Order: sequence, then structure tokens, then C-alpha cells
Amino acid sequence: MVLNCKHVWEHISEYLDDSLEEALREEVQRHLDHCEVCSAVLDSTRNILVLTGDDRTFSLPLGFSERLHRRLDDEMQRSLHG
Ligand SMILES: [Zn+2]
Repeated sequence: MVLNCKHVWEHISEYLDDSLEEALREEVQRHLDHCEVCSAVLDSTRNILVLTGDDRTFSLPLGFSERLHRRLDDEMQRSLHG
């Protein structure tokens, strides 16, 4: 199974939370190793999680993931066509 970027984004918070099953986690990891867009997403998502602390009750600001995904769509379009 090959993950595309959208798959990775859907799982990225679970990935950071270490709650993905092993096989999927490895696929995400492999994708991140060669995908700059997703690495950037991982970094910014991780920063948000750090800011919100480690109390396991983190929730992204309302609309965050929608906005994030929209931005990622833009960036992907740009990298595909630019
Ligand atoms: Zn990607």
C-alpha cells in the first residue's frame, strides 16, 4: 500500500500521538522521509501539539485542520504545476 499526501495528513495527529498501528506508522514514516510537503506539515502540527502541552486532551483550534488541508491543497497544486 502506498500512501499519498492526503492519507498522511489524515493520520498525522495519530502518528504524532503514536496511536497508529505499526504497519501504518511505518508507511507514514516512509512517506515523510521523501515528501517535503508532509514533513513541513508534520513540523507545524508537532509545534501546535507542543504548544498545547502534553495532557492528552489536545484539540486543534476549530477549523484548523480544514484550513490546513486547504493550504496543503494549494501547496500541492503549486508543487505539481510549478
Ligand atoms: Zn506527502
